Amino acid sequence: MSIFTKIINGEIPSYKVAENNDFIAFLDINPNAKGHTLVVPKKEENKIFDLSKDEYSALMDFSYRVAKALEKTIACKRIGMSVIGLEVPHVHVHLIPINSMADMQFQQKVKLSNDEFVELAKLIADNFV
Ligand code: AMP
Repeated sequence: MSIFTKIINGEIPSYKVAENNDFIAFLDINPNAKGHTLVVPKKEENKIFDLSKDEYSALMDFSYRVAKALEKTIACKRIGMSVIGLEVPHVHVHLIPINSMADMQFQQKVKLSNDEFVELAKLIADNFV
């Protein structure tokens, strides 16, 4: 079972920003930039292109809505999107509010306190429609 399935099952906590029957979005715990969010299908699948076309499209639709909420919440040049999965083999889309190429490179990290994560997740959740 992946660490994300444990989050989905409520076995470990997350800073949740959005959820429906099929997807959950929560803040990345080691963010490249403030607001770095992961969008995860509840069905545990390793690789994104092993999803069916319908599952893939639904993941992109949900990610679009999360990205819109991020744009409303975080001052940034744009929202970057990336799919990697080398650390956690459970499909997830990284949505990252970016101001420079460095924000997409998974090297520079920002540190947030628990209170800052909680407040940020609430602000994004409030802007999610
Ligand atoms: P990757 O699998 O390479 O796309 O990276 C996995 C991402 O998941 C990394 O950016 C981690 O910081 C993030 N991550 C790992 N565990 C957690 C967790 N428990 N809650 C939130 N994000 C996590």
